[in-house]
Amino acid sequence: MYLPRVIKKHIPGFDIIDIKDHFKKGFIEIHLKKADDHPPCICNRCGTQLGVSHGKYPVRLKTLPIFNFDTYLCLWKEKRFCPTCKKVRSEKLDFISEESPHLTKEYSWWLGKMCEFSPVTRVAEFTGNEAMSVYRLDYERMRRMFQQYKIPPFKRISVDEVYARKKSYYRKESRDKRFFTVICDLDSRRVLWVSDSRSKEALDEFFHVIGPERCKEIEVVAADQHDPYRASVREHCPQATFVWDRFHIMQTFESAVNDDRMWLHQHICKGEMKRLTRAKFANLFLKKADRRTGEEKRHLSDVLAENNSFCYLEFIKEGMFQIFDCQTAEEARYKFEQLGLWIHQEKFFSLQRWWKNFDQGWDVFKNYFKFRVTSSLSEGVNNVIKTLKKKAYGYKNMAYFKLKILQVCGFLNSRYINMNF
Ligand SMILES: [Zn+2]
Repeated sequence: MYLPRVIKKHIPGFDIIDIKDHFKKGFIEIHLKKADDHPPCICNRCGTQLGVSHGKYPVRLKTLPIFNFDTYLCLWKEKRFCPTCKKVRSEKLDFISEESPHLTKEYSWWLGKMCEFSPVTRVAEFTGNEAMSVYRLDYERMRRMFQQYKIPPFKRISVDEVYARKKSYYRKESRDKRFFTVICDLDSRRVLWVSDSRSKEALDEFFHVIGPERCKEIEVVAADQHDPYRASVREHCPQATFVWDRFHIMQTFESAVNDDRMWLHQHICKGEMKRLTRAKFANLFLKKADRRTGEEKRHLSDVLAENNSFCYLEFIKEGMFQIFDCQTAEEARYKFEQLGLWIHQEKFFSLQRWWKNFDQGWDVFKNYFKFRVTSSLSEGVNNVIKTLKKKAYGYKNMAYFKLKILQVCGFLNSRYINMNF
């Protein structure tokens, strides 16, 4: 029988004996028979050559569609006695997927590749498969890739915590356990590692994985003002410079400003002013002045004309932006003390607390002027992970979620790991 070379290449040792087209039902069946030159059967588990035959059974494998018809390969699989396992085993066929016994390798590779950029449920819907089996395939595939995963070389990293899941009502756990620690490479801008919780152990795990030799090569570690991370960095790579991420500095600063705006709104403002300083406009008070639109500027000048405290709040916020633009640490320190004066003079409660905290950590913050770490990376990764979670309507399996983050934002995908199907 005529056999195209392509098929011969992908299904070695088999001949096509029949092609049945069930066009009305929407599928094609390709029936295969073992060729005469088929190599001897090999055990599915251990790979030794099999002995006495114990019969055979039919298998129907789904493969890539032909002209949009579901396509199946139908063949008989042999059962034979394995001398090593001392058991009857089925033979190993190379073109069957390692993730599922009902799919061919090409098809499962194709499905897995689709799962890299689309949620599992969509892939299942689009290809007409069960969502659960696509999920299992995806999970299995990522786990198999993870075995080959090597952390690529890096010099500067950022450490970040990401809120992973809601509180579990079944067991008692600390809040830390609900987070992931995400470690990114600042140069390639991709995720290197994800570990459970946001405790010191989480970052220790990463340093442990890369080993002490590579720890010595790390130059910069950027993180938020979370003490456990700093402790871990000090222990494992004392030579690295620890920098606070601008994104996180601004986050704590903005929440302090917002608290004080709220206090002013509740206790000082009256009438029309109360309307103008509502929570609806909260973002307006945090926005950098030159980014505001015309209408927002008018709105704000109304507020500032009316109330002095809001003027100071605006000065303080602008001052904070200026600190980041300073050329040297000394210049920044001078600006920072100026901010402190205003904050104390106006008795902003939250900001006072923030200023005190920041003052204690000034030695760390100073490093920012040596290594300027922009906020875009952790902000971006944070966003991608959030979107990922939303797209899948949340994840139940945390191990799967971790692998998924590595797949979408990191190196655990077919672009970087070459697997022959
Ligand atoms: Zn065996």
